[in-house]
Amino acid sequence: MPHVLVHYHELALKGRNRRFFEQRLVNHLRAGLKNLEGIHVEALPGRIRVSFADPGQWSDCRTRLRHTFGIANFSLAYSLPAHDRSPDLAPLKEAIAQHLPLGQFETFRILTKRAEKRFPKTSIEIDREIGAYVCQVSGKRVNLTSPDLTIAIEVLRDEVFFSFHREPGPGGLPTGTSGTVLGLISGGIDSPVAAYRLMKRGCRVCFVHFHGRPFVSRASEEKVRDIIDVLTRYQLASRAYFVPFGQIQRTIVLTAPPALRIVLYRRMMMRIAEELAARERAWGLVTGDSLGQVASQTPENLAVVTEATTLPLLRPLIGMDKQEITEHAIHIGTYDISIEPDEDCCRLFTPPHPSIKTQLDQVRKAERALDIATMIKDGLAQAEFVEFRA
Ligand code: ATP
Ligand code: MG
Repeated sequence: MPHVLVHYHELALKGRNRRFFEQRLVNHLRAGLKNLEGIHVEALPGRIRVSFADPGQWSDCRTRLRHTFGIANFSLAYSLPAHDRSPDLAPLKEAIAQHLPLGQFETFRILTKRAEKRFPKTSIEIDREIGAYVCQVSGKRVNLTSPDLTIAIEVLRDEVFFSFHREPGPGGLPTGTSGTVLGLISGGIDSPVAAYRLMKRGCRVCFVHFHGRPFVSRASEEKVRDIIDVLTRYQLASRAYFVPFGQIQRTIVLTAPPALRIVLYRRMMMRIAEELAARERAWGLVTGDSLGQVASQTPENLAVVTEATTLPLLRPLIGMDKQEITEHAIHIGTYDISIEPDEDCCRLFTPPHPSIKTQLDQVRKAERALDIATMIKDGLAQAEFVEFRA
């Protein structure tokens, strides 16, 4: 039966919260791996053991682990019982020799960790004894600094594990440990990356997308659905709202100075998002703004948009440039979808010369001509709710 040992590092630092973090990670793994036959997920001291019946499912399991925040690294491991803390390492040596991937390395090192400090040999003693044995049976050399193969040994109270390949996990904090936030997602390159950054820090992200219908086709909505599908791999389930925004934009176009349109659209998005956040018990809003990238993202305009909501407005990409964000989007798999052509609502009724230094009093004056409460109410009434599953 394959075992996978899952390690987390940041969680270990969380003091009294550690149990909570660990439990969230265990629950997330159980939910995410429930399709594996005979799946068993168990918290051991300082690590989590995942076991399942069919070795053929390792690749499925690995894909899931690569998408599980909170995992520092993981490895496929072999286990044998730790016979009442017997110092005799013969069974361990034999088991290692039996599984050594002989054709795959010339140099190696042993890296022992003892969770069970009462084990009668120290980590270094174990390293030395097993290392000498592996040299002898394999004819390979030890290299402590850059070996081809690291044989990791983990001594626990009841079991000893060993493994040959450690894979990095995505890091971060387990889903849900930082509460829920609402991500404003546009179908562009930036907002999916912004949502991902918050997911990685333990937030469950709900989504809202404002689309230009009835004035444009469904193209931007379809893209956003595909993007949410990709992001849902990291949190297993997502909740999303699709809000028709074309009519709201039209009203703004008919009453407000053209230069202020974009900022007014954004402020309306914030207000509607704030209502949806309350519904979802989300503590913050997330956008993909990056300072100075476009006209709506000047310091003045960002400030005026921020003022429209009382919720914390999280902008994880604020200090990143487009190149960095693009690389990130490629890495998480949303880039190819984001660059497909669409009909984003913000390009609808875009003024030729948007204001780049909008002042709050200008905006307030323009908004006095709008029935904001009704616009919010209508937007919410027409919002379509969709659930996504990984
Ligand atoms: P993106 O690449 O995310 O579209 P952008 O560089 O195009 O960002 P803007 O169009 O100014 O920048 O949008 C800034 C942020 O406002 C977006 O990252 C997103 O969070 C939010 N936003 C913009 N348009 C929409 C929309 N139609 N629905 C939901 N959120 C939106
Ligand atoms: Mg955009």
